[in-house]
Amino acid sequence: MKYLVLIPDGMADRRVTELDDMTPMQRAYKPCMDSLAKESLVGTVNNVPVGMVPESDTANMSILSFDPKVYSRGRSPLEAVSMGIEMQSDETAFRCNLVTLSEEQDYENKIMIDHSADEITTEEADQLIKALQEHFGNDQRKFYTGVSYRHCLIWKNQPDNYPFMRPHDILGQCIKEHLPVSEGGEEYYAFMKESYEVLKDHPVNLARKARGLRPANSAWLWSPGKKPTLPSFSEKWGIRGAVISAVDLIKGIGLCAQMQSIDVPGATGNVHTNYEGKAQAAIDAFKSGIEFVYIHVEAPDECGHRGEIENKVLSIELIDQKILKPVLEYLNECEDDFKIMVLPDHPTPIEIRTHSSEDVPFMLYDSRKVYPGVEYFDEYTARQTEIHIEHGHDLLDMMIEKDAETTASAQPTDNGQKKKSGIPAAIFDYLEIFAVSIAAVLLIFSFCARLCRVDGESMKNSFEDGQMLIISDLFYTPDNGDVIVFHQTEGFQKPLVKRVIAIGGQTVELNFAQKSIIITDTTTGAQVDYSDEFAVYYNETKTDFGQQYEWRDNLNEQKVNATYDSATGTYTFEVPEGMLFVMGDNRNYSGDSRMLGFIDERTVLGKALIRINPFTVYFD
Ligand SMILES: [Zn+2]
Repeated sequence: MKYLVLIPDGMADRRVTELDDMTPMQRAYKPCMDSLAKESLVGTVNNVPVGMVPESDTANMSILSFDPKVYSRGRSPLEAVSMGIEMQSDETAFRCNLVTLSEEQDYENKIMIDHSADEITTEEADQLIKALQEHFGNDQRKFYTGVSYRHCLIWKNQPDNYPFMRPHDILGQCIKEHLPVSEGGEEYYAFMKESYEVLKDHPVNLARKARGLRPANSAWLWSPGKKPTLPSFSEKWGIRGAVISAVDLIKGIGLCAQMQSIDVPGATGNVHTNYEGKAQAAIDAFKSGIEFVYIHVEAPDECGHRGEIENKVLSIELIDQKILKPVLEYLNECEDDFKIMVLPDHPTPIEIRTHSSEDVPFMLYDSRKVYPGVEYFDEYTARQTEIHIEHGHDLLDMMIEKDAETTASAQPTDNGQKKKSGIPAAIFDYLEIFAVSIAAVLLIFSFCARLCRVDGESMKNSFEDGQMLIISDLFYTPDNGDVIVFHQTEGFQKPLVKRVIAIGGQTVELNFAQKSIIITDTTTGAQVDYSDEFAVYYNETKTDFGQQYEWRDNLNEQKVNATYDSATGTYTFEVPEGMLFVMGDNRNYSGDSRMLGFIDERTVLGKALIRINPFTVYFD
């Protein structure tokens, strides 16, 4: 299995008047994304925990499965790591932007013209950073050149919580209100003010002005942070991962998680970035045996900050055509199954020219599956599916598959222990006489029973949403009509409760028009009619996943290798040995084998034995 995660940074937006009230995602021609979205799991996700600032470090850390509430130390230490700086515990890293301020007489009255100094080249910036090092550097502080306008200052014995203003949030504003004037900021203020004197007439800036470019005439500090520690990605997921980004902090997250960081020549972070190079680097990484590739593209975010509407649309189109398309073509040619997830880390709406905290759309494509996706991938269609992931750090749980057997067999012990501790200890005081039998029950539960919750309406009227079941797999072989719980390794990741309609070696005849299901045992010829037994037909008109759930057209013929007789309207297929065909009793409204295909018997966690609320025991 190969995994591609594609992050068009800041792609999500709001309706833009100049785009006829569409968002850039809606306006962009992105045939590749949209064709995948038709078969993808699509929804919304919140990558930035409540109370945290919507920055790319936080959001990308989430998407890479690390809870920023636990691991975030700010963006600059991550950037420092990506520059190869070995931070010590008494050091604080600061982001040091090279910015363009207006030329008013007093420093305080200047206006923040450009937080990126016209996206100054790294070569030019290097000379300016060296000038800063010469003037301000000492054994307490040292400047390091990063990429373009993004650089690093390492300063000993500084706090990591001084409330700096982010320069891209005050574009066009007078800096007076935003300088580090509150307590503890005196030295930072003095440095920033003096940096203007050092930089304004530097030959690099004079030459830029002569070429009609904005000078990088001041340094702007922000985002202080201490050395970060992240768990290893490969140890966490059991696969090797690589990060492809032009942005230091994304590389830094990758490197902190001991992933490979692949540099692409000409990857600039703006709309003219080397899209083809990123695609090729991803393909090369897959070819080298890396299973998980994370491509981050900064361009839509930059365009959002700069208020460049057309360029933002263009950057999305280029990502679609020059990155997603070639990588998808490569993956399609591979023997391997693959999954592709596309999502922005956070929105960068044109309207506000900075990041916002709204949920972002995501799509998860699986080469083996057809999800009821959306026609076009955008902010609104994603919201309509009503699939919402509350924590971005859960996304990879949904995407990366762990070995089904390991997961299934690992679970009984966990649940068994939970069950045991849930029994009040006092019970033994009252029921000493039953102690032995209770102990026996606990023992059985520990090893072979577990508690499951019915989630959703798909088993109406047999089981309602929220009811609790005790299930067991002790001496259990699935049989027709059993209610089972099985572990679903993809999609929603939670165990599903369904009814076994057919087992391995049986033939299923489905007729949607007549709502009939006939099961024939291939060897004995015995027949069972499941047309009416258990079945209910609620929600004839209920919609979900953005489309109507129809009993009639809800069979994925390829998944079950069905043959269709157009004269009778009957689908016929055989269930392979070791597999099951399962359905929800609420047959208009159940995601089951009709959609998922056969269920591997090895993923069955057990058969429903007892319903707790209301209490019912199911005997054969
Ligand atoms: Zn941004």
